[in-house]
Amino acid sequence: MNLMEKELRSNRKLTTEELAERVSEKPETIRSWIRKGKLKVYDYPNLADACDLCQAPIRKGKLCTNCSMRIKSEVAHVYEQERIMQERKRRENSFLNKRK
Ligand SMILES: [Zn+2]
Repeated sequence: MNLMEKELRSNRKLTTEELAERVSEKPETIRSWIRKGKLKVYDYPNLADACDLCQAPIRKGKLCTNCSMRIKSEVAHVYEQERIMQERKRRENSFLNKRK
């Protein structure tokens, strides 16, 4: 970590790739440090982790804004479908019960 801190202090604008090269690590390693909070990015504008789905640069979390919005709406859609199915089943059951 010390070499990395030294490199970052001498150049706050290093990108993840540049930093990886200077400390002889893989960019993925640097990203995992960012993910784990071992490396704080707020002082370094060009360091970034990568979105789990589309690899877009992200500064926090696991997904970029686009992917997390997309997943949220997909999940909402699935819930809505389930709710409709349940509702339909409930209606069918009460209809069958009435006929008995
Ligand atoms: Zn993404």
